[in-house]
Amino acid sequence: MILKPDYNVKSLFDIDFKEIKSLGVNAVLFDLDSTVMPSKSGEYPPKVMELLNELKHNFVIAIISNNKRKEYIDKVQAMSDFKVIGNANKPCPKIMKQYLNSINIKPEEAVVIGDRPLTDILAGKLLGAKTILVDSITKDSENLLTRFVRKLERLVIRK
Ligand SMILES: [Mg+2]
Repeated sequence: MILKPDYNVKSLFDIDFKEIKSLGVNAVLFDLDSTVMPSKSGEYPPKVMELLNELKHNFVIAIISNNKRKEYIDKVQAMSDFKVIGNANKPCPKIMKQYLNSINIKPEEAVVIGDRPLTDILAGKLLGAKTILVDSITKDSENLLTRFVRKLERLVIRK
């Protein structure tokens, strides 16, 4: 099934990055909203920032977001020294592919991590990267409609 991620975990902190590294992965492409920070918050939870800084020792990391608001993306970019790219048009893998090209990394040496099967995971699959689906970082405080849509999306990937 094309939407089925290689790994499906509850949180970023459940990912075994040593194992990911052993698979030949050199770049980690994170989604932004609901993956590394609460949606549209513009702030990394301190524990996430700590994790990202630690990962920089072993991987090239980048944030690839569909968010179109330039000032928001610029603000997030200013918080770190790794690349933050907005308006990525996932599930189209073109922007991810261009970025990997620019740093000389092949798609099969990358993993895409995100909270949405229909955008993040599909983009990763189309790119030819490994994929990890995480639960939304604010799963427990989301409204009913958002939770319902997430349930539907996850039903699709179980097939
Ligand atoms: Mg997201």
